[in-house]
Amino acid sequence: MVPPGAAHYAAERIKEREAGMQGMMMHRPLSIIEILRFASEIHSTAEVVSVRTEGDIHRQTYAETYARVARLAHGLAGLGIAPGDRVATLAWNGYRHLELYYAVSGIGAVCHTINPRLSAEQLIYITHHAEDRVLFLDTTFLPIVEALADKLPADMRYVLMTDRAHMPESKVELICYEDLLDGQEESYDWPEPDENDAASLCYTSGTTGNPKGALYSHRSTVLHAMETAITLYSSLREGKRVIPVVPMFHVNAWGLPYAAPMTGVSLIMPGPKLDGASLFDLIEGEQVDAAWGVPTVWQGLLAEFRKRGTHPKCFTDMVVGGSAAPTSMIEAFEKMGVSVCHAWGMTEMSPIGTQGLLPRELREAPLSDQIALKSRQGRRMFGVDLKIVDEEGKPLPHDGKASGELYVRGNTVISGYFENAEATAEAFDSEGWFGTGDIASIDERGFLLIQDRAKDLIKSGGEWISSIDLENVVSAHPKVASCAVIAVPHPKWDERPLLIVVPEGDDRPGKDEIDALLLEHVAKWQLPDAMEFVDELPLTATGKVSKLTLRKRFADYKLPDAG
Ligand code: AMP
Repeated sequence: MVPPGAAHYAAERIKEREAGMQGMMMHRPLSIIEILRFASEIHSTAEVVSVRTEGDIHRQTYAETYARVARLAHGLAGLGIAPGDRVATLAWNGYRHLELYYAVSGIGAVCHTINPRLSAEQLIYITHHAEDRVLFLDTTFLPIVEALADKLPADMRYVLMTDRAHMPESKVELICYEDLLDGQEESYDWPEPDENDAASLCYTSGTTGNPKGALYSHRSTVLHAMETAITLYSSLREGKRVIPVVPMFHVNAWGLPYAAPMTGVSLIMPGPKLDGASLFDLIEGEQVDAAWGVPTVWQGLLAEFRKRGTHPKCFTDMVVGGSAAPTSMIEAFEKMGVSVCHAWGMTEMSPIGTQGLLPRELREAPLSDQIALKSRQGRRMFGVDLKIVDEEGKPLPHDGKASGELYVRGNTVISGYFENAEATAEAFDSEGWFGTGDIASIDERGFLLIQDRAKDLIKSGGEWISSIDLENVVSAHPKVASCAVIAVPHPKWDERPLLIVVPEGDDRPGKDEIDALLLEHVAKWQLPDAMEFVDELPLTATGKVSKLTLRKRFADYKLPDAG
């Protein structure tokens, strides 16, 4: 017979379960400053090495960084910055920018990183839209600010990120960064944030219309750092030295300024020097293991490797993303012993969504098979869900064949655009998934293949032609430095592809040579109708080829058989 006590106990447990039983664990808010506090104790000697705009190389440890961040926090409070205020930056990758990331969010304010490559109108628009109160800028960007100061928010204060010795004369009233820190205490009583509080703000580069703001929280930022730490483990391991070539003004340098201190990785900051020769010297001089950046940067580094006939042996891991990495480039790096991880993401996703490290069973596959897989955009990282849908929004199978618009959801994906109800209303489906605007397929193993931006696909006689596919093949031609394919109107087929090429040297490739190469990979009807040469391709603010500018430039282009 069951004793009455036990029956009562069982009944209580059932009641609890029906009410939805809660775990009995502490709730500590996820907070950005905790990352640096941890690094200052546990990875105290890992370094932040910075190429400064002053021209030299500067070093400090995470322990020293944490102390300076406290001093900066006191300085910010002295400027009257309160929780929720927006503090803007116009700066390269360097230790002072890193200090701002932590001090601004640490006191409860919002760090708004501005992309200096935005147009003047866009810069004016976003500083007003964000209601920035202070702008921290590197000396390089003083001319931009001087030219626009009359049109920026009237009560904006300006802090130049340098020391007293380097303060220039200016028509703008400037505060000196190092003066702000001078004499301040090396500890700060950090307020405990609500983990959903806003921490940083980044506007998309805005290929159409005004830029839209992604407002990251403490929670999304810490989770993104943890998710990338377990996913991009080849560069994020204690003791590694990594260069974020991707700028800190582009989606928080893909979260590396948070993931590196969390994992004990030293950050090697390239400052304004992003050309192949400077990166080569920095990688070799600082014995860098890994680097993260967009394909255009790696093309420059590859050209430098070829020019010098050698490459730094310490450099073994690369993360490439932001736009599709050409297969020929991946192959060239892999053959030099640099393992390429092709990632995909968006500003709206903090930004990383997928990563291209191969699963164990495929790491022994022939190199050509590995490279073919690495040309895809990898598999989703933990915490990010992907679906592809047809034109009616119905989910499509992950069979490697069906392709449709890619939707995402997860804790590191935006739930709306900052102060922009109109853009928010258009961005999500009825189940709350965010529409990326990318057209993709996903295979049975989970490998994503981005075929195009919805608006960059070429629709010829009702059939799609992927501009990325054509570009991928053509960029492997030895006489091609870079290329882009755009749609131009055609009276019979609606649209046909036009190939735009930057030649490698004086010896321009012939259309027949290019067609012969393309025919090894694509159908005859997909060949570009014409080829034009340009000296360089226009780039967007984030270093991607600006198809929008090309489309405008070739808007009246007449194809040979277009009547
Ligand atoms: P952004 O918000 O500026 O980072 O741009 C995000 C967009 O860049 C994505 O929606 C894609 O169209 C493109 N993109 C990012 N990474 C890749 C990649 N690895 N391959 C192809 N396209 C990419």
